[in-house]
Amino acid sequence: MQVACQRCMEPMPLAVRSEISLAVVAGPEEAERLPDELDPLLLEKDESIPLSDLLEDELLLALPVAPVHPVEACGLRLADFCDEPEVGLVDADADEEKVNPFAQLAELKSEKPEH
Ligand SMILES: [Zn+2]
Repeated sequence: MQVACQRCMEPMPLAVRSEISLAVVAGPEEAERLPDELDPLLLEKDESIPLSDLLEDELLLALPVAPVHPVEACGLRLADFCDEPEVGLVDADADEEKVNPFAQLAELKSEKPEH
């Protein structure tokens, strides 16, 4: 599956390996008797939960909280934070980027359909 790297926000492949070993039990006593490799799933009598809910829970548990690329593979190196110039990008083109709203309005007016 693909998740977003929490550092560079680029998609990254994430292998989720989760072994689901649930055993439905009716009470704490039964849960106690389960072998270690089984997770008890305590259900009330006649209670049932959709399998999809179960899988979703297990998947969320298996997912890392904040997945990030390995440092060498990440698109956003930590060094970039330190070396990033703080001035220059904003000021250079500021004047050209300014849009005169009245100029735009004039353009719109001149585009009246001719009949
Ligand atoms: Zn990344």
